[in-house]
Amino acid sequence: MNYSQENVRPKILLVDDDTDFCAITAFRLKTLGYDVVTALSACDALDIVRTNRPDLVLMDIALEEQFDGIQVAEQIHSDFGTAVIYLTGHTDNFIVRHAKITEPFGYIVKPVELGELKAAIEVALYKAKTEGELKNLNRRLEEANRKLHEFAHVVSHDLKTPLRGIRRLTEWIAADFANILTPDGRKHVQQITERVDRMYSFIDRILEYSSVEDKDEDKSVVDLGELVNSVIETIDAPEKVTINIENQLPVYECNETRIAQVFQNLLGNAVKYMDKPRGQIKVGCVEEESFWKFSVKDNGPGIEKKHFDKVFELFKTLVPPDKGGGTGIGLATVKKIVEMYGGSVWLESEPGKGSTFFFSLPKREATSENEKSTATATARK
Ligand code: ADP
Repeated sequence: MNYSQENVRPKILLVDDDTDFCAITAFRLKTLGYDVVTALSACDALDIVRTNRPDLVLMDIALEEQFDGIQVAEQIHSDFGTAVIYLTGHTDNFIVRHAKITEPFGYIVKPVELGELKAAIEVALYKAKTEGELKNLNRRLEEANRKLHEFAHVVSHDLKTPLRGIRRLTEWIAADFANILTPDGRKHVQQITERVDRMYSFIDRILEYSSVEDKDEDKSVVDLGELVNSVIETIDAPEKVTINIENQLPVYECNETRIAQVFQNLLGNAVKYMDKPRGQIKVGCVEEESFWKFSVKDNGPGIEKKHFDKVFELFKTLVPPDKGGGTGIGLATVKKIVEMYGGSVWLESEPGKGSTFFFSLPKREATSENEKSTATATARK
């Protein structure tokens, strides 16, 4: 869309079968600085959108005495993504209800004052521009994710083979030269093995992260209580750490593996970073009007406020790998999965006392970017 550039006049298509209204309104809109084309029929409107690509369509509803303005608007929006404002004399509920389904950028009842029309046009143009940018951004993100996934696959294969070789050779060295290796030598061989294992785990986690994509995955109705219990079993926490589920967890339609990854990462971190002699980890869930709010609370080391956002970024760790830290992929994966479901993730923490990681999952899956951001904003309140 080019109307945001200076000196470029936004292009508006005015569709109305009233010749006089069309001529007068087009003239008035031109005085406001818009580039205006007109169409007297649904057919002409579609042709003009196809060839001229207007930034906005002002659409009458009853064209040629039929209510086909709504059908045309629907087609224009779905085929070309062009913003539509209805400009009509009709106010009855039946028509408004039908018009609403086509997701118009406005509904204006004639007669309309020029100032009012201009305000509606400007708001719609701005909204269309930001929606367009968001769509582009999403497209670029999807592309980047696809490339990352391909890259991760290739790298995973090319790296894992030599890593396997290094690991095997190190095991042979440790076994064959056990008698002549000094304690330092043994320590170094051990360090090589540990680093190779870390590299392995890094590759697997990158693959896991890049495989989370914003597309429909297999879903089933999952009892999250059972799911969390089985995650707890796989984590195999040391005896000093207890993990409890505080409230009943809901049954939720989702991809079981993905949601298990969320709990695995959060519970795994709570166990991994636990620094208290008696570690206490609690899983909770609160039902809100439109979403479930889950929490994983621990009495571990806590996180300083300045790192609250940073910990969710890819490859960001607060603890270096040789001091027990990991790859910095876990929380980024959690964020990616939760956001894929239209939820959000955040944390509260007090250094020395512990952290609570929260995430929300909408009860009904969000269908548009707007709904997703609304769910995010509400959940964080
Ligand atoms: P990592 O692989 O390093 O654990 P994550 O993305 O899972 O990567 O976590 C990022 C960082 O957040 C960790 O390096 C750690 O410093 C911090 N962190 C995560 N969970 C906790 C927790 N429960 N308590 C304290 N710090 C945590």
